[in-house]
Amino acid sequence: MSEQRNKKTATISSQSTAEGGMRRIALFGSTGSIGRQALEIIAANPDKFSAEILTAHGNEELLIEQALQFDPNIVVIGDEKKYQRVKDALSSTDIKVFAGEKALEETAAIDCYDLMLAAIVGYAGLRPTLQAINIRKPVALANKETLVVAGDIVMRKAVEKKVPVIPVDSEHSAIFQCLVGETRNKIEKVILTASGGPFLGRKPNYLVNVKREHALQHPNWSMGAKVTIDSATLMNKGLEMIEAKWLFNLQPEQIQVVIHPQSIIHSMVQFEDGSIKAQMGLPDMRLPIQYALAFPKRITNSFPRYDFKRINTLTFEDPDLRTFRNLSLAMEALNKGGNLPSVLNAANEIAVYAFLRNRVNFLEMTDIIEKTMEKVSFIQSPTLEEYFESDGEARTYAADLINL
Ligand code: NAD
Ligand code: MG
Repeated sequence: MSEQRNKKTATISSQSTAEGGMRRIALFGSTGSIGRQALEIIAANPDKFSAEILTAHGNEELLIEQALQFDPNIVVIGDEKKYQRVKDALSSTDIKVFAGEKALEETAAIDCYDLMLAAIVGYAGLRPTLQAINIRKPVALANKETLVVAGDIVMRKAVEKKVPVIPVDSEHSAIFQCLVGETRNKIEKVILTASGGPFLGRKPNYLVNVKREHALQHPNWSMGAKVTIDSATLMNKGLEMIEAKWLFNLQPEQIQVVIHPQSIIHSMVQFEDGSIKAQMGLPDMRLPIQYALAFPKRITNSFPRYDFKRINTLTFEDPDLRTFRNLSLAMEALNKGGNLPSVLNAANEIAVYAFLRNRVNFLEMTDIIEKTMEKVSFIQSPTLEEYFESDGEARTYAADLINL
């Protein structure tokens, strides 16, 4: 395992920076929460980064605005109906405009960038990320669903192609940072911290009445809608356990979750001698994004700093697995492996979609996921095609359950 970690990080400095020290970024999902924060970092460091590819699904106006500001080589709009609007708005520039799901994948395979920031939300991020790895581009990975769905295939390909996968998710960035300089040392366990979300301490009789607006209010982090709902149900932590398994080549029993409501410790690694390393800071996604974009360097910024005198109590508790059953389901998927995590993920994407449209209540999301996991046939070692098929089957079954 340690050798594998070593191999993954070894190539980045030589491969991932164009001449003159500029790193050309392919930003997949540029209009999202992660994408916009990444562009803030790119704008603040014009001598270090350029945006070479920008992609969005539906927000064509923001994509156009970003393209006019950052002058990328290529933009891709996922929704083909929006193509003409983007094309017209950029007609006075030499920016190439493509549209559609296939174009997203094909653009990822164009050798015009040094590092992909995979910031699309959900399963849609998987294919472009695989393409980037295929052409040996390092990937800064925010899109955790990519590893939940097909982590074995993605990481195997990354090792085969000697491509580093640098986590952007704050917990995994913390673990990654704790592991710098530790390539020969065995990990006893990793401790993923979780804020607990807006409903920490609540019981099912309260959760059954929770509305969309309430669930979208996260106490510590401002994020896209899907990951915010996943944080409220604790599914996010479950997806992150699976993400950690693949990123750091861990056994399920080496991954522990601890609720830490202040979100100052972003995660920890315990080594064989019992020593624990933690990575700390204010909850600000710009930090892990910047770390991944500039890796292996740290660069300066003016983000607010953590003040020990202001937040001087850090607390920890066990997650309430009986109330937040999504986390138990994710642990089951983590333990059984095979296609079960991809089924969990697909059913969860449908459940969150339905909850955001007031079609199901907060607790019904768990029922949808549980029933789908029971229904879709288990495959121990799926091929990529079988992962795609399980995803489709799980989505259809979950959607049928609620007449979507
Ligand atoms: P978001 O919803 O704010 O943005 C998603 C981006 O993906 C947008 O640019 C959107 O246009 C694009 N997109 C959505 N559906 C698409 C599709 N079908 N095809 C192509 N593009 C599509 O999401 P976000 O909060 O920025 O999260 C992005 C990823 O990063 C998620 O996987 C999330 O779990 C992860 N993440 C986010 C945060 C955070 O603070 N926001 C923290 C940790 C991890
Ligand atoms: Mg996270």
